[in-house]
Amino acid sequence: MSDIDPILRPSGRRAVLIDGKAAAAQVDAAAREGALALARRLGRKPCLAVVLVGEDPASQVYVRNKIRRTEAAGMTSLEHRLPASESQDEVLALVARLNADAAVDGILVQLPLPDGLDATRVVQAIDPAKDVDGLTAASAGALVLGAPGLRPCTPSGCVYLARQALGELSGRHAVVIGRSILVGKPAALLFLQADCTVTLAHSRTRDLPALARQADILVAAAGRPGMVGADWIKPGATVIDVGINRVDGPDGATRLAGDVDYAAALDTAGYITPVPGGVGPMTIAMLLVNTLAAAARRAGLDLPEPAARMLTS
Ligand code: NDP
Repeated sequence: MSDIDPILRPSGRRAVLIDGKAAAAQVDAAAREGALALARRLGRKPCLAVVLVGEDPASQVYVRNKIRRTEAAGMTSLEHRLPASESQDEVLALVARLNADAAVDGILVQLPLPDGLDATRVVQAIDPAKDVDGLTAASAGALVLGAPGLRPCTPSGCVYLARQALGELSGRHAVVIGRSILVGKPAALLFLQADCTVTLAHSRTRDLPALARQADILVAAAGRPGMVGADWIKPGATVIDVGINRVDGPDGATRLAGDVDYAAALDTAGYITPVPGGVGPMTIAMLLVNTLAAAARRAGLDLPEPAARMLTS
């Protein structure tokens, strides 16, 4: 039997691109519909509060995009900008005010925080009911238990895109490279919850290329540009590239690159996400769905369809 899964990719063809932008646009549209329906029940729009501390240029771009997409989805977006010199107590006091504000459904603290601020303490201060990034201990615990809770956005986007490509994920072998709290660990747990057999790899894993070659679904989240070569990929496998790395381009300018050697992988993978335009856009889409889910749960309502179908677990 050929080791190319005929369901994944008819042999001899190049990899099919998984279009994260198009998928995110579908999720955004579902979120917009859900926001309208929920606003009618709540008597106000669902609301996301975004906290940005300091002037990190990348964070400013991310926050701008989050606010734009939140508002385009028919939700209220509150932006709280604090100077990099703000004290830990002031940041915690802001989180406490947002926790207590009944009109705020979701709280997102943009990471990384400036030096001198303890990101763990700040994130853990968020009310789990409003933890739309899914990073509090309560959210992580709910994920481990398989209990209801808000799931981290980027890993949810990975599962969503894998489902788009493959449909049912049950029984597939997912190898996740990277074990961060933000991406790798929750991605592994979400694929496990989708009934995949999961291997979680990291910098101490032995013979990673051989391990990666066993994956039906290979998730690369190491932050190492081009690390995953064609010889790391089982023919026909689905490759989800989470990496966003800035590298030097040929013309002296910089460009974004994933963790996968994309051009080389095209001849081996069955499905593949590009960088940019793959997992990146899905992260904000899942943030919108999480904000709706938080608004609905806080009001004791069900998340309306089609937004409910966008949740990955
Ligand atoms: P971290 O640096 O927190 O974690 C990287 C992980 O990769 C660690 O677990 C590390 O292992 C592992 N790793 C590093 N080098 C290797 C190697 N050579 N072989 C195997 N494993 C290795 O990064 P994040 O998880 O926060 O992010 C990962 C990537 O995803 C980055 O490029 C980031 O920019 C991107 N990202 C993209 C998002 C999106 O929206 N698309 C959102 C968030 C992140 P160890 O634990 O042993 O050190």
